[in-house]
Amino acid sequence: KWQEGEVLRRRLHNTIMELKGNIRVFCRVRPLLDSDIGAGPQSLQYPNSGDLMGRALEMSVASTVPGQPPQKHDFAFDRVFAPAVGQAEVFEDISQLVQSALDGYRVCIFAYGQTGSGKTHTMLGSPGDRGMIPRAMDQLFASANAMKEQGWSFEMQASMLEIYNEEYKDLLGKGPPAGKKHQVAHDEDGGTSITFAEALDVSGPEAVATLLRQAMRQRAVGATAMNERSSRSHMVFALRLRGTNANTGIQAHGVLNLIDLAGSERLGKSLACGDRLKETQAINKSLSALGDVIMALANKESHVPYRNSKLTYLLQPCLGGDSKTLMFVNIAPSADAAAESLCSLRFAAKVNACNIGTARSNVK
Ligand code: ADP
Ligand code: MG
Repeated sequence: KWQEGEVLRRRLHNTIMELKGNIRVFCRVRPLLDSDIGAGPQSLQYPNSGDLMGRALEMSVASTVPGQPPQKHDFAFDRVFAPAVGQAEVFEDISQLVQSALDGYRVCIFAYGQTGSGKTHTMLGSPGDRGMIPRAMDQLFASANAMKEQGWSFEMQASMLEIYNEEYKDLLGKGPPAGKKHQVAHDEDGGTSITFAEALDVSGPEAVATLLRQAMRQRAVGATAMNERSSRSHMVFALRLRGTNANTGIQAHGVLNLIDLAGSERLGKSLACGDRLKETQAINKSLSALGDVIMALANKESHVPYRNSKLTYLLQPCLGGDSKTLMFVNIAPSADAAAESLCSLRFAAKVNACNIGTARSNVK
C-alpha cells in the first residue's frame, strides 16, 4: 500500500534538493581487481567513515621529487562510496532521486570516469550484480503499480542512444535511411523528439531488460574493438514517464536519463591536468561541454552553452530549470590510475563546488 509517510518523505526530499541546489556529486571507488595487482594500490583514505559511506576522500600521491613527502589531496562530495559498498547500498542513496521522475521531475544520472573505473558496472552492472538502471526500473514500475490505488496510471517509454564522434546512433531501431541523420528537436513542453529513433512502450522491468540486451548487441555489431568504442562513446538510456491521475486530473510528466559517459582519460598522456575546466579540453570534447553546462547552470549564468555538444543538446530539457542532476565520479584504486583519478576528482570537485554559496552549506 502506498504510504502517506512515503509521500511526505518524497516531498521533503524534493524540498531539500531544491534548497541544496539540484546538482549532486557521488564518488565511487571500485575494488582492486586481479588485473590491477601489478600496479599496486593507490593510497586512498576515507576519513571518518572507514570503508563505508562518507563524504570525504583523501588521496596521497608519491612525489616525483626524490626525498619529498607524498602530496595529499582532500576532496569532499555529497557521498563517497568506498570499494566495499555494494550496488544495493549505492542504489539506496539514489532511490529518492529516481522516484522523483514519477513526480514529474526530469532527472539525469551520469557516470563519469576513466575507462575501467566502473562506470558501466555502476550503471548497468551484470546479471549477478545489477547496477543502477535495472534497479531503478524495478523501483519505478513497482511504485507506479502501488500508485494505482490513488488513481494514477503511467505510460512508460524507453529509448537508448549512443553518441559517438559527435553523432547520434539509435540502439533500438534500424537507424536513419541512407544519407539521413538522426536529428534532435525540443518542443515547448520540454519534450524531445529524435528523428528515425525508437521510443518503445515498456510495461515492466523485464521489457526494459530485453531492450537493453538488444541495444548492447546492436552496439557491438561492427565494432571490432568494443572496448575502444565504449571508451569513446556516451550511452544515454532514457525512460519517459507520463502519469495521469483519474481522480484529480493531475498529470505528471517526468524523464529519467541514465548516462554511461565516454572515458574521461586524456588522449595525450603527457598533458598535465590543469586547474581550470578549459584545460581539460584534451579529453573528449563533449565531457568538457557537459562540465561547462553544469557549471553555467549552477552559477546561474544567463547563457548556458547547451549547443556545444550533441550530449548537452540532447539533454537540454533535463538539465537546468527544476530538473535534478547526479554525477557519479568513478575511480579506479590502482597506483597506475593515480594521475587520471586526480583529474576525475578535480573535475567532479569543480562540479560539486558550484553549489557552495547557495543554501547548501547549511543543509545537512
Ligand atoms: P568502465 O565502464 O568505466 O570502463 P567497468 O564498469 O567496465 O568500467 O569496470 C571495469 C572492471 O571493473 C569490470 O570488470 C567490472 O566488472 C569491474 N568493477 C567495476 N566496479 C566494480 C565494483 N564496484 N565491484 C566489483 N567489480 C567492479
Ligand atoms: Mg564501460
